Amino acid sequence: MKAMVLTKLRTALEWKEIPDRQPGPGEIRIKVGACGVCRTDLHVVDGELPDPKVPIIPGHEIVGRIDAVGSGVSDLSIGQRVGIPWLGHTCGVCFYCKAGRENLCDHPVFTGYTRDGGFATATIADARFAFPLGEVGSDESLAPLLCAGLIGWRSLAIGGEGKNVGLYGFGAAAHIVAQILKWQGRSVFAFTRPGDVKTQAFAKSLGAEWAGDSDQMPPAPLDVAIIFATVGELVPLALRAVRKGGRVVCAGIHMSDIPKFPYQLLWEERQVVSVANLTRQDGLEFLRLAPQMGIVTQTTRYPLEQANQALSDLRAGRFEGAAVLVP
Ligand SMILES: [Zn+2]
Ligand SMILES: [Zn+2]
Repeated sequence: MKAMVLTKLRTALEWKEIPDRQPGPGEIRIKVGACGVCRTDLHVVDGELPDPKVPIIPGHEIVGRIDAVGSGVSDLSIGQRVGIPWLGHTCGVCFYCKAGRENLCDHPVFTGYTRDGGFATATIADARFAFPLGEVGSDESLAPLLCAGLIGWRSLAIGGEGKNVGLYGFGAAAHIVAQILKWQGRSVFAFTRPGDVKTQAFAKSLGAEWAGDSDQMPPAPLDVAIIFATVGELVPLALRAVRKGGRVVCAGIHMSDIPKFPYQLLWEERQVVSVANLTRQDGLEFLRLAPQMGIVTQTTRYPLEQANQALSDLRAGRFEGAAVLVP
């Protein structure tokens, strides 16, 4: 197999030929059809997340077909199309796993961070954490659903049922969430980097009722604000934009420091919460509904060996929607 490998933190990925691996007990091997590029991949490469496995093959929005099955795997078969998400394995016995909150597992394994991911022609996964995808939609169009879509879905669930939803940072996740919200009959208010009229126009094309700069106030108070950007300064701005009792959901795995702000912004039962990872239940629910919701992902395709270009374009905000690597 071939892969783009991070051999040292804060350096470019390297194109490598690696011996094919066989799936162990309970594992499957997937021939990768497409793998999305997520902001979290940048955090891994930049060494912003604790204790990564290095060398590591990044990538946790994997769509592909099973081409080998380990012992003990009975519910998946060769040739079947599956998606492999960020949550690669959980212990099943800790307090959180037992409480149905496996997203908070004490001993998790994460795809493309603590186990090899999908910036490769093939990958090995724990069969219990693979999602059967069916045959609707291309590999490339489905890949962004595996993290951007899933984390967006979980953020919406945590955000609650409010009608006016603000999305701070309009990248891969928000462009999917905007479509979910529209399908649900809710109103989308999109906040971008100040002056980013191109992304604001993109948000409006996906049904946003309003799009503006992140330091602007929306035309109506928000019930929920979801922050996808990794910028801590957005927390007080979002708190200012939500109504009494409103909720600000921080959806990123990493964020710059939140500046100090007057207590008045939190007063009147406003809440700030974070969303971590996903549960398999989130995935099953979301991927079952996704075809009905008519989500159309906007993707920019890169050949696998151009993963470094995709990462730097993501960092610089050079495309709308999501980047996807295709072997
Ligand atoms: Zn656990
Ligand atoms: Zn991700």
